[in-house]
Amino acid sequence: MTIGGLREAVTRVQPYVPGKTIEEVKRTLGLKEIIKLGSNENPYGPFPESVRAMTEELKNLNRYPDVSFERIKGLLGDLQGLPSQCFALSHGAEGMLQTMGKCFIEPGDEVVLPAATYSLYLEITRLMGGVPVPVPLAEGFRADPEAILRAIGPKTKLIWLANPNNPTGTACDVRALERLIRSLPREVWLILDEAYAEFADAALLPDRRHLIEEGCNVIAIRTFSKAWGLAGARLGYAMARPEMVTVIDTVSEPFNANRVALAGAQAALVEGRPSYEKALATILADRAWLAAELARRGCCVVPSQTNFLFFETPYSASELSQALLERGVIVRSCEGWGFDRAIRVSIGTTEETRRFASLFGDVLDDFRKGVRHHG
Ligand SMILES: *Cc1c(COP(=O)(O)O)cnc(C)c1O
Repeated sequence: MTIGGLREAVTRVQPYVPGKTIEEVKRTLGLKEIIKLGSNENPYGPFPESVRAMTEELKNLNRYPDVSFERIKGLLGDLQGLPSQCFALSHGAEGMLQTMGKCFIEPGDEVVLPAATYSLYLEITRLMGGVPVPVPLAEGFRADPEAILRAIGPKTKLIWLANPNNPTGTACDVRALERLIRSLPREVWLILDEAYAEFADAALLPDRRHLIEEGCNVIAIRTFSKAWGLAGARLGYAMARPEMVTVIDTVSEPFNANRVALAGAQAALVEGRPSYEKALATILADRAWLAAELARRGCCVVPSQTNFLFFETPYSASELSQALLERGVIVRSCEGWGFDRAIRVSIGTTEETRRFASLFGDVLDDFRKGVRHHG
């Protein structure tokens, strides 16, 4: 039975489909050991320093968080080289993306985004009654700032841009992106989702600090879910000029970060730095190893600026990912983004990465022999 009374836009929103969970796969396939490489989490988190601080903070959970967020904003300021008034917090980057929708999108507004990107942008746009304007990717599976600029029309209000992009793992041309940001009309804002920035070559990312200081219409979004190993704690933040931060804080829910997440993030930023650096270095080394391994097996691997690899195979991605699942490995088929033969795999622990390469090799051999290949 349909439910009456809903906003029309609500009826058009599709539920977000997260990667499969370990619990779900164990239950449905009766497997004992699962390697989860479908959600780009950090296999080395939470860092022990975060766990200690979060455990310690539990006894304060009867109290609301201190919403000045003074301590974390000071630490983020040091990290990013911006004054603490340039930061707003949220429950995960997702929470900030939702707030962006509320800040900018009115029914009928056009919202520009790359054709293959993080699916939540489309759903937030629809929820707010906006009209998505997808722009095809450029060569090399990269978002195309010049084409995005050309797609801006009189009705455009917002641009969603994940840089590096998910699912393709690529950063777009940095000069073209900076030109796009500097050319934005006064009424158009660009939401720069940098969920994977820590894994990228810094020279390939725009100078967000300068762009914000210049007063550009850009809001950069970061998260503790990926590089900082705290996906389950839900903490994200935005960087923007102070006037915009005030607007974000007004539109956000009043207590937009929880005590445990804050304690974990603060500890990661201070005592946890060596753990973080070590995890990052290991993930980058394993990413290079796996890219070479997949290429050796005949896959076309797109150079990654993230903690995952996007690669094209000779076979159907949904069939390959199903065969992997039956061996206990969770990856993302990129069919839903229109890449019928592409897979996205997160970089797990070194051991998981080696195991994945070996199991994937077996699966490819089976497909090559025609065991699973249907046309
Ligand atoms: C994972 C991801 C997010 C979500 O991050 P949370 O902080 O866990 O909400 C946002 N944007 C992109 C592009 C992502 O891949």
